[in-house]
Amino acid sequence: MKYFILFGPPGAGKGTQASSMVEKYNLRHISTGELLRKEIAAGSELGLKAKSLIDAGALVPDEIVEGMIESEFRTVKGVAGFLLDGFPRTTAQAAALDDMLAKTSEEVTAVVSIMIPDEMIRERIKHRASIEGRADDANDETISNRIKTYHDKTEPLVGYYKAKGKYHEIDGTGTIEEVRAKICDLMDRF
Ligand code: ADP
Repeated sequence: MKYFILFGPPGAGKGTQASSMVEKYNLRHISTGELLRKEIAAGSELGLKAKSLIDAGALVPDEIVEGMIESEFRTVKGVAGFLLDGFPRTTAQAAALDDMLAKTSEEVTAVVSIMIPDEMIRERIKHRASIEGRADDANDETISNRIKTYHDKTEPLVGYYKAKGKYHEIDGTGTIEEVRAKICDLMDRF
């Protein structure tokens, strides 16, 4: 199995790019944000716990998302691999992912990082708010907290994966098609 990590700040276009990647490379798209929003919509206990944290722009506890990922790995069959979107988001999650994969002597294939500057994060999220209506996209304070959470907790993963020789960065400021072409050029190598 191949394990690609789609990395980047909120609003970088991970979800947008993921949908064409999964078709082209026969991958299962796992977005922890989407899985959590489904739990919230279903009104589950887990969803209830996650909602206040997501609305505040904070992260949900590592164990929750790690459990979700592990159960997807266990149950999804018939694909060439997985495209992880929004996971891992902390170094603890990255270490947990390594441990999960080590159980079957597997490892992360590559990290595909889509980078955009902070000003563009805000523009993109505001634009998305008007289309998708996500509660955490509509509030300025929540957006600021998400950007801060990204820099504090998630950005250290760049160094984590660089040290393993798995980190590949792509300029995410172009059009959807331009960014897609760059991602394909990279993923074709694996
Ligand atoms: P974005 O597209 O803005 O990056 P996501 O849909 O990936 O947002 O995630 C939305 C929210 O869900 C995050 O702000 C966070 O609260 C929560 N979340 C998603 N993935 C994780 C994760 N791996 N660890 C902790 N919290 C997460």
